[in-house]
Amino acid sequence: MNNIVYFKKKSSNNLVIRSLKNVWHPCAQIKYPVENKSNFYKIPLIPISHGNGPWLIDVSGKRYLDAISSWWVNLFGHSNSYINKALKNQLNKLEHVMLSNLTHKPVIKLSEKLSSLTQYKLGHCFYGSDGASAVEVALKMSFHYWYNKGFLNKKKFICLQNSYHGETLGALAVTNIQSFKEIYTSLLNKTYIITTPDSRNINKGNSANEIARCAIFDLEILLKKNHNKIAAIIIEPLVQCAGGMIMYDSIYLKLVREICNNYNIHLIADEIAVGCGRTGKFFACEHAEIWPDFLCLSKGITGGYLPLSLVMTTDKIYNSIYYKNNINIFLHSHSYSGNPLACCAALATLEIFNKDNILQRISQDMKKITKALTSLITHPKIINFRQKGMIWAFDVIIEDPEQIETFSKKFFVAALKNELLLRPIGNTVYLMPPYILNKNEIQHMTSAIFQTFNEVIT
Ligand SMILES: *Cc1c(COP(=O)(O)O)cnc(C)c1O
Repeated sequence: MNNIVYFKKKSSNNLVIRSLKNVWHPCAQIKYPVENKSNFYKIPLIPISHGNGPWLIDVSGKRYLDAISSWWVNLFGHSNSYINKALKNQLNKLEHVMLSNLTHKPVIKLSEKLSSLTQYKLGHCFYGSDGASAVEVALKMSFHYWYNKGFLNKKKFICLQNSYHGETLGALAVTNIQSFKEIYTSLLNKTYIITTPDSRNINKGNSANEIARCAIFDLEILLKKNHNKIAAIIIEPLVQCAGGMIMYDSIYLKLVREICNNYNIHLIADEIAVGCGRTGKFFACEHAEIWPDFLCLSKGITGGYLPLSLVMTTDKIYNSIYYKNNINIFLHSHSYSGNPLACCAALATLEIFNKDNILQRISQDMKKITKALTSLITHPKIINFRQKGMIWAFDVIIEDPEQIETFSKKFFVAALKNELLLRPIGNTVYLMPPYILNKNEIQHMTSAIFQTFNEVIT
């Protein structure tokens, strides 16, 4: 693993060195000993020059198929001509204006379109820029609703095991992935954590329904005792993505909705990763035919172009907060709230869904890709092959837990050599490609993953 000199070309090396000097790269915590050339590139840092459809091309001309949609945001490929054109038009009109006291067409049209997609059940859209902020907004709004109604004690939240809702302090408090919160635990509010209805337990002989009912039991016990203290439960509908692509049956969403009604607590659906068609329907909640009290969107909503997030909510919540009186209005003032360019990219994204019949395309493509991957299912080193919409995942058996970290790095590096951008989560390898792969690209993606697998797992 050590001493992988990834770039032979001088220009690439220069960019890598400069980037490592002044750019603080997120997540990949790679201590590059820049001075010590002998231990140079532990993991490659790839200077990307441009993008074209599902392909990313680096400065030395090497291409990579973006099979993870650049952290799950890119839906219709890089440098998409339709979105490009819409943005250029918007750029000539209005780049930004504050949304307090002022308004503009892109934000109005986008809010109308999204509301109509929920049949106006969630007819009020509040805007931020990143996913974590949308989660903060939903948590604050939920608390604020109960506050205005006189339920001053309802200020705790529930989340699921392995949940991920972002990394600002409020969002991190409802995240249950140890590595992200370990250091910061003392800064975070205490949250109730309940069993996740992980469908991998089907392998142990339980049906999806039994798994869901078992997990719900946990919620019910908690609420029986503590519902007076609890404002909301926050969940990632159907797939807990950052937690390791943990999938579960839609019956769980139905049951959670019921219980929330019975015990007077809000349901916050964090669809930041699973929204915008990723699970095969525009909103993942549609699989269960339920609506939450708050729905968070971000990531794919602009087609992966610009940062935008939003929280959609009901008349009931909107009215309780908005029309009260001056003291109790909802405050979350964000400079770039409803940015016209980002809204314009989101509108273009929704137009593509319509004009290219994307949901139908997804329902066909997911079958093709699943079929192309079938021989992975029976591989002796692979367990828990799973799929939901345009997400595929499987777990690789690694005997020594200490080797899991090395495995994911090795896999990442080997995949790059095979012109594929993949980034396993521990021993979970997943694909989350853009929705526009053609036959050859599907072929490339699947053969590159087999090739990589054979190189890494011997
Ligand atoms: C990515 C993600 C977030 C956080 O979004 P950012 O834009 O990275 O802050 C929140 N929830 C889920 C489910 C996510 O996948």
